[in-house]
This record gives sequence, C-alpha cells and structure tokens, in this order.
Amino acid sequence: MTTSAPLSDAPRPVTSAADWLGWGYAGDQNATAASDTLLINEQSRLLETQGRRIIKFGFGQSPFPVFASAVETLAEHAADKAYLPVQGMAALREQVAAFHRHMDGTDWRAERVLIAPGSKLLLFALMKALPRAEVLIPAPAWVSYAPQARLAGQSAVRLETSFESRWLVTPEQLDRHCREHGPGLSLLILNAPGNPTGLSYEPEMQRQLAAVAKRHGVLVLSDEIYGPLDHRGAHRPFARDYPEGTLTTSGLSKWCGAGGWRLGVLNLPETLGDELLTRLLGIASETWSSVSSPVQAAAITAYSVTPALEAYLDAQRRWLRVIGQWCAQRLEAAGVRTHAPDGGFYLFPDFSAYREVLRVRGITTSAELTATLLEEAGIALLPGSAFGCEPTQLTARLAYVDFDGKSLLARECPDDPESAMAVPELATVRHGIEALTAWLGAV
Ligand code: PMP
Repeated sequence: MTTSAPLSDAPRPVTSAADWLGWGYAGDQNATAASDTLLINEQSRLLETQGRRIIKFGFGQSPFPVFASAVETLAEHAADKAYLPVQGMAALREQVAAFHRHMDGTDWRAERVLIAPGSKLLLFALMKALPRAEVLIPAPAWVSYAPQARLAGQSAVRLETSFESRWLVTPEQLDRHCREHGPGLSLLILNAPGNPTGLSYEPEMQRQLAAVAKRHGVLVLSDEIYGPLDHRGAHRPFARDYPEGTLTTSGLSKWCGAGGWRLGVLNLPETLGDELLTRLLGIASETWSSVSSPVQAAAITAYSVTPALEAYLDAQRRWLRVIGQWCAQRLEAAGVRTHAPDGGFYLFPDFSAYREVLRVRGITTSAELTATLLEEAGIALLPGSAFGCEPTQLTARLAYVDFDGKSLLARECPDDPESAMAVPELATVRHGIEALTAWLGAV
C-alpha cells in the first residue's frame, strides 16, 4: 500500500445504465438481496393480517432499549437546533475515541473520527471516496456491501466461504486471491462479530489474515458495529493486528439499541494521510451535512464508559450468549449444523443434511426453503442467497431477537441456558426453534 501517493481517480466509462443500477456482485446477472428481504417481510405482513402468528427471526433489530441515561440526555437537548460541524462535535469525537481506546485497546484519535447518520452511510462514503478499487466481499456478508460498492462505481468481488471455515475468509484464500489479482487497490470488508453469522476470527487466524493483508497492501474496512456485543466481552478489533491499514466503523445501532437514532462512527488511521479524510468530509458536507444535534449530545452520554454502561452491555451480552448457545444446540441436535455464535444476535444454520428430503418436496434453494418455512410453520428467516451465497446453498439467517429486551434486562441472567430459556420473555424464541425443528422432523 502506498500511503503517501495522492489518490487518483481514473475516469470510469459508463457502458450502460445496468452498470450503475445492478444490485448484484460483479458477474452476477441479477442478485436477489433486496428482493428476498422484502419478500419475506411482505409475506409475513400478509400472513399476520390473515390472523397467523409469525415468529420473526428475519428482522435484525436490537431487541434491547436504548441506554437510559442517553435517552435522558436526548430529552434535555430536544431544543438544540444548530447545525453541527460536518465531522461531528469535537466533544463527541473525543468521547468516541476514548471509548474505543478503552474497550478495544486501539489507537482511535478524535481528529481522525468522522460521525455520520449511521455507519451505513460511512461505508458508502468510504467506497465513494476511494480511487478505483476492487471491493472484496465475503459470501455470506451483510446485504448492503455489494450494492453500495456498485453504487459507488467500484467493482465488488465475492470471496466465497464455507461452514468449515466458520464462514470466514481464510488467510490462504486472501493470499491466493491477491496473487491472482495482481496490482491495484483492494478493499477487503470484514465484519466481526458477523451479520449474518454471529462469528468472529480466532485471534491467531486474525493475526495471519492481517499479515497477508499487510503483505499485499490490501486496505481493510472493518465493520465492528457488533463489537461491544461480543458475548464474552472479548472483541478483538482488526486494527489491533493491522493498525496502519484498517478503517473501522461502528455506531449506536446495535450495542446501544438505537438504530433509529442514526449515528455511526468511522476511524481512519493516521498512516492513510489527510486526503482520504478530506474527501470524506467533502462527501459529508455535500450530502448529510451533520448528524442531528440532540442525537450527538445524547451520544456523548452513550459513549461515556460508566459502571451503568458496563452493566447494561454486560447484561445484553449474557442474555444474547445463552439464547444463541441454546438455539444453536437445539438446531445441531436436529441435524442442522450451526456454529454457536461469538457475538451479536444472529445464527447461520446450514440445512444441507435435509437436502434430499427437501428436494423431494420441490425445495432446492434457500429462498424456497425460507418461503416454505414461513408459509407452513409461520417462521420468518432470511435465505442465505440474500447474503450473497449460492442460491442452492441451503443456509439461512436466524435473528434470535423476537423478545422484549427491556423486560429481559430487568432479570438476572441464569448461566445455564435451559433455565435462562424458561423465562416467559423467551417463550417465542423457544417456541420458534421448536416449531422449526418439528417442521424439519415432519418433512
Ligand atoms: N453493518 C452491519 C453488519 C449491519 O448489520 C448494519 C445494520 N443492520 C449496519 C452496518 C448499518 O448500521 P447503521 O447504519 O445503523 O449504523
């Protein structure tokens, strides 16, 4: 990676409108990411209007309430009306940097932090600000990376992973790709704990991957929005292993339960110089201007590490851990191979052991599987194909968030998953997993 060379934008000819409107990965004709997600939501709503009870394992929103002190600060600042600096309030950037230094042991600096209305926009702005690059996206990965890469005029390249590699890009795979690809800027997107998998790298494998990225000058965009929800509080930021080449994003949406507040953060390493930051600030000033003033004030409270905040995070982690472990064990026992999650609130079960019986029923793709599960068992999952997997790979994302998180946080979390799952708040999740395994037993 040449950190001192100026960024150059080679003109990029537009050959057809489809270049710009295509939603899929490079080479895909017509990926189904947006449509699969919408379809499941629409079908769920339709079935609910018919009086059917739907277990919502499809929608990935935090079930927990926003951190209470932050809500108080938001209310106190409701009358704040001034536009704030494009980069974000200095006091907030200081607090965000201090939070990440404390929680993650990384070297975040307030001057290198950018605040935006959600990390989603920061990811897009970054892809737009970079010179022409290939954006390396693991499959499966969060639904928006590939469409964003295309919208930003970059090429998206899919790095296929497997159950055996815990749905993670291996160091050997990255090395092989870089050797075959040759020179040119590459941006590797990583997301741990992951959406849709709930999985993170083991420290040694992460070190090896970082070493490969460094050797080939690959920039890494590490989406760590679920980092504080690592179930053991042991999130290892990628920047710990590759500080000079890792751009990190996070925000309030997951660990603070505040997705609708729209506040995301990005840290740019010093080594990448000033030009990229200047470009990002240019994009920000020409598009979102700044995040709303009351939300920035409230975020200062959310990002202040206090015993109350630590207790709030700890309680979420404990519950998410036992629920995730219990669900994964139940699915495994039913022959659906599922890695127990490291963090966040997703599982990525693999139904391939049922391929033959499903085929007999005319189900050969993950989209057919999730549509039938919704219709026949009232369970909404998102198909693996929505996350960039081959359509015939029988995987799905299960978001175990169909519960009242406020009521759950008021309880002590038992260590033993069976006792934890016996609380009334978790009846729907328990019932959903049982209904899923019962449906499989009957196919
Ligand atoms: N990355 C991942 C992996 C996500 O799951 C989400 C939200 N679903 C985002 C980024 C975007 O989050 P936000 O824009 O709310 O910060």
